[in-house]
Amino acid sequence: MSHLVHRSLRSNPPLAVSGQGIYVRDAAGHTIIDGSGGAAVACLGHGHPRVIAAMKAQIDTLCYAHTSLFSCESAEKLADKLVGHAPGGLTHAYFCSSGSEGNEAALKMARQYFLEIGQPQRRHFIARRQSYHGNTLGALAAGGNAMRRAPYAPILSDAFSHVSPCYAYRDRADSESDADYVARLAAELEAEFQRLGPDTVIAFIAETVVGATLGCVAGVPGYFEAMRAVCDHHGALLILDEVMSGVGRCGTMHAWEQEGIRPDIQVIAKGLGGGYQPIGGILVHGRVIEGLNGGSGSFMHGHTYQAHPVACAAALAVQEVIEQDGLIANVQAMGRLLEQRLTERLGNHRNIGDIRGRGLFWAVEFVTDRATRTPFDPALKLNERVKREAFDRGLACYPMGGTIDGRLGDHAILAPPYIVDAAQ
Ligand code: PLP
Repeated sequence: MSHLVHRSLRSNPPLAVSGQGIYVRDAAGHTIIDGSGGAAVACLGHGHPRVIAAMKAQIDTLCYAHTSLFSCESAEKLADKLVGHAPGGLTHAYFCSSGSEGNEAALKMARQYFLEIGQPQRRHFIARRQSYHGNTLGALAAGGNAMRRAPYAPILSDAFSHVSPCYAYRDRADSESDADYVARLAAELEAEFQRLGPDTVIAFIAETVVGATLGCVAGVPGYFEAMRAVCDHHGALLILDEVMSGVGRCGTMHAWEQEGIRPDIQVIAKGLGGGYQPIGGILVHGRVIEGLNGGSGSFMHGHTYQAHPVACAAALAVQEVIEQDGLIANVQAMGRLLEQRLTERLGNHRNIGDIRGRGLFWAVEFVTDRATRTPFDPALKLNERVKREAFDRGLACYPMGGTIDGRLGDHAILAPPYIVDAAQ
């Protein structure tokens, strides 16, 4: 029996012993293609020599420095790299150790911003159903994944309410155009602002491209512009969670670049450090920083391991490799190839209802019948079977499914590393 608390207490997963490029080897000698980088994490694959060298150099020089006493070079350089050129007006970065922590920081900074600018009555967040923002209590309360929320419902904050996601495959009526669908979703968000009291809302939070709970679902054209407009109208902030979809994964550095809008606070994590170190963070618009500066002049939220020197050195090296090797262009090219191959091989399969994604972030949705879009019976645990069958054939992918938010649906995500080549 393992003494480690695994995701299941009843079975032990295979023991991973080494990784190189897109491959992971387990103790039984299997070589597996890491086809989803875990949960869209390993953006450079495994064992990248430049990242490892940067981490070693940092460890040799400075392992740790507490941020109440010091800053460190790797954190300063990482912030410069990410927001030195103020993309979308984002001017500051805060680094923590995971996506969940990033969302906690985003929620708290948004609340503090309104306190500092004299709007303490703002206490509500509007999020979306079938979303995931992390497992810590604030992030879990923001998330709309009913299955993950259920056991903890009594201890989740009631500051969060949820509106519909933009999920055209299942929710756009046949008679509706994209514009009609967007107008309906904008009206729903507006109604939620009105129900809560428009000047009591802190922010609307959404994943730019929904990851685990829907499977690589982007908004239809105009969706994010409409959501941004509702937030702007009521003076609320827009928080975009790009923990999965950001840092190049969707074929642009930030997934929001493809939406014609910009966030006030953006959360990033997985592709930031590529799995080489645990690191997440938020990128913050100058307007929010000015608000904090005009008040207490501090962000009242500290972690012992925030801006950790080795984590920041790893992330800096990952970002330099992405830039120097032109990997976002490779994400675009390999993404087009992946889409083409998925469409050719699976596009007419009777059990594939939808193939969707951006960049190197693709999902297939499984149905019993393409015409009726009928999902599988959750009792079949299709996601478990897909995971096992793919694994037995040498592919690790990221299937999710069963009942999500009281609705049925199964999908599997493919999110290969940005270094993948056409033959692989
Ligand atoms: N937000 C999104 C969109 C995610 O996909 C995840 C993790 O899957 C998180 C937040 C939480 O990140 P972490 O698991 O690093 O805490």
